Amino acid sequence: MAEPTARPKRLQRPQIVLEVVNRIQLSPHLVRIVAGGPGISAVEDNGKTDAYTKMLFAKPEAGLTPPYDMERLREELPLDLLPSRRTYTIRRFDLARGEVWIDFVVHGEAGVAGPWADHAKPGDVVVLGGIGGGYAPDPVADWYLFAGDDSAVPAIFSALEALPKDAVGTALIEVDSEADHLPVDAPEGVEVRWLHRDGAEAGTTTLLEDAVREVEWRPGRVDVFAHGERGAMKALRPYFTRERELEREQLSLSAYWAHGREEDKFQAEKREPIGTI
Ligand SMILES: Cc1cc2nc3c(=O)[nH]c(=O)nc-3n(C[C@H](O)[C@H](O)[C@H](O)COP(=O)(O)OP(=O)(O)OC[C@H]3O[C@@H](n4cnc5c(N)ncnc54)[C@H](O)[C@@H]3O)c2cc1C
Repeated sequence: MAEPTARPKRLQRPQIVLEVVNRIQLSPHLVRIVAGGPGISAVEDNGKTDAYTKMLFAKPEAGLTPPYDMERLREELPLDLLPSRRTYTIRRFDLARGEVWIDFVVHGEAGVAGPWADHAKPGDVVVLGGIGGGYAPDPVADWYLFAGDDSAVPAIFSALEALPKDAVGTALIEVDSEADHLPVDAPEGVEVRWLHRDGAEAGTTTLLEDAVREVEWRPGRVDVFAHGERGAMKALRPYFTRERELEREQLSLSAYWAHGREEDKFQAEKREPIGTI
């Protein structure tokens, strides 16, 4: 009989422990956390405009000190006391100043990360679980199309700022209202168009899909970056792949969150039909 083998250990991303340096209310629904501290020396800019990190949030009552040994904690703690994992874009690496910026959608009291950012104050602990990312604007594209909701503002803005000054295209950004518009240093030839939910719940409208379908399709090779709520992304993928017949390399599209789902459930559902895009 074969020897029983130990349960394979899950790969743990190296954790980077920082602290809140500043909290800036950018708009009614977006809060910037500037994070820094000695741990910043472990942060590396990967050159992707959608660079993201898997943040870990521990409940104060768990009394944990980071970095968290997740493997051990999973064995020792009840599920509800384990740190929660949430994914966020690094809006800017300002390593010369020893800072990273992370912009959080504040979407009420539900969830972990949004409420945390809403109430964060200097000195609060920030735990980053590694840094990933896969997109930067294609330098040989003829034009660019960006589509997303508030959660994709950090990645879309980073991309707009990285474009060559003579780039052309359209950025469609869905927010609640005009109060959520933010300034961005986009090339003159890229129209930034804001779409308003006007009080409708995020993740319940067809605003983004409708606006994408109305974009005038320019000649030449397009580079598309579309990220946001799962329903909107599910509707957009066939438009790009079947109707516009884009090649794989021309399209960066994924769900950043799902209406009515906590991130853990939403991430787990990516392996089921409901979560497949
Ligand atoms: C690669 C990647 C990059 C991302 N970058 C960012 C980023 O830079 N900024 C950002 O804010 N988000 C970003 N997100 C989305 C973020 O991870 C999710 O919104 C996450 O669910 C937020 O966690 P939470 O604890 O606040 O809410 P959860 O506990 O996950 O969810 C609680 C409830 O809030 C709802 N909810 C979650 N997010 C939103 C939202 N944006 N608007 C309205 N309702 C919501 C859920 O549907 C659920 O009903 C990114 C996601 C990915 C995969």
